[in-house]
Amino acid sequence: MALRIKKAVYALIGIVLMTAAGLCHAGQKTHTVFFEGEENELHVFRSFGRVEGKTLLIVGGIQGDEPGGFLAADYFADLSLEKGNLIVVPRANFPSITKKERQINQDMNRKFMDDHTRNYEAKVVEVLKELICQSDCFLNLHEGSGFYSATWESEQRNPGRYGQSIISDAAVLRRAKNAGAKDIDLEKMALTVIERMNASIPVPSQHFHFNNHRTNQPDSLHKEQRRSATYYAMNICKIPAFGIESAKSLPLEQKVKQHIWAVDGFMALMDIIPKTPGIDLKKPEMQYMIISVNDSIPVVVGKMQRLTIKRGDVIQVHDIITNYERGLSVDVIGLGNEFNDMKKKLKILESTRIEAKKDFYTCGSVFLDIRDTPGAVPIGRLAVSDSKKADGIRYKLKVNGETVMVDNYDHVRLNYGDRLVIVDIITGDIDPSEYVVNFKGFVGNNSRNDGEDRGYVIDTGAGVLMPRYSLERKGLKYHVVTTLGGEEVGKIYIDILKNS
Ligand SMILES: [Zn+2]
Repeated sequence: MALRIKKAVYALIGIVLMTAAGLCHAGQKTHTVFFEGEENELHVFRSFGRVEGKTLLIVGGIQGDEPGGFLAADYFADLSLEKGNLIVVPRANFPSITKKERQINQDMNRKFMDDHTRNYEAKVVEVLKELICQSDCFLNLHEGSGFYSATWESEQRNPGRYGQSIISDAAVLRRAKNAGAKDIDLEKMALTVIERMNASIPVPSQHFHFNNHRTNQPDSLHKEQRRSATYYAMNICKIPAFGIESAKSLPLEQKVKQHIWAVDGFMALMDIIPKTPGIDLKKPEMQYMIISVNDSIPVVVGKMQRLTIKRGDVIQVHDIITNYERGLSVDVIGLGNEFNDMKKKLKILESTRIEAKKDFYTCGSVFLDIRDTPGAVPIGRLAVSDSKKADGIRYKLKVNGETVMVDNYDHVRLNYGDRLVIVDIITGDIDPSEYVVNFKGFVGNNSRNDGEDRGYVIDTGAGVLMPRYSLERKGLKYHVVTTLGGEEVGKIYIDILKNS
């Protein structure tokens, strides 16, 4: 009974997989997790080229003591494609990888044909079988003992060894019986890739060779391969399949490189083209800012969290953690340097915000709250708290260089000729950069009027204000309107006193 239910579950997985494959994902990447939360969690990465093409499946780590394969597969899990598709399973047998052992219950690569032992390996193999049949070619990345040679040379170098070879179960994949399908010359495919690879391997004794296991032949040296993943690919899914075997005894870095060259070679054969360079413009997103106060041990402050400090404390942003590694800077609003306040020690006299940037994108903020009440900030402990629901927007202005804090819907009285800067707004839950703060009747950015007027010097005596946008049309009463997602959420009034 239990078996029956499990079978139904596997069938369901199959349907989900096939449905996913049928959807249009041009130019996208997906990451699917099977058996989430279980020890044999299985991560499948798909990359779909902008232009349609063939699909190559790359599997690493089916045996946990072969790191050359799964470390190379990682590289392809991150790749963006111009043409064709990749399905990458870097770590097919994660439990065995954590133990650095070939197998846990059973050799996972001997369970693809007629094995009915139910264990986690069986569950993973069911998923891999589906993925294999969705692909046009399959590479199983391994490390092999010794060095393969077509003739017997020594105990370590002979026809029974695996290292430095590209293996297939036959020289030709016979498919001509199927309607419209052609036979595929596997030996020719492998030799094309091997020639490319060997050009990068200076030591002739380490050159790769084609290793035909002739798995179905009565005199095959490798009848055990009749239960392997490549055998399943060739005989059930009718696709070309190869084992890529780096010699175990070589340095890890060389093994990884060789696997990468092999995959590159097969991608070229199948006209699967990577993006050069891999352009993947995901939205920059800060997770944490690492800040110290008065040279304390740094604390981690999450996006939109608040750090409570005392007036006059010296803060230093050590680093920010974002989904990008390069192009990062911070801006302590109203203080510090023009371009970047990272690692600068800054004395904080008023509540403010620290903005994280990736190049010119704002990617998150944290808030510095000054608390003057004695004893409010526990000595020797920094208080980090979550941002509360918007308790009203406040405006941080500079009038002739002096900071002025203004509540939402308040009036600001200026003399004609005063220089006003809307430094920023102080908000609750939502990042202030998500808002637009627009001085009606002033254009901050002439080349692109996006309505955002924070940061500009507004000289009320220089004729830059447009009276037709003033509230009384006489050029003395203006308003600054704050919107979020196009909806007005607040304003302040600017009243200009003309003493003529
Ligand atoms: Zn292996």
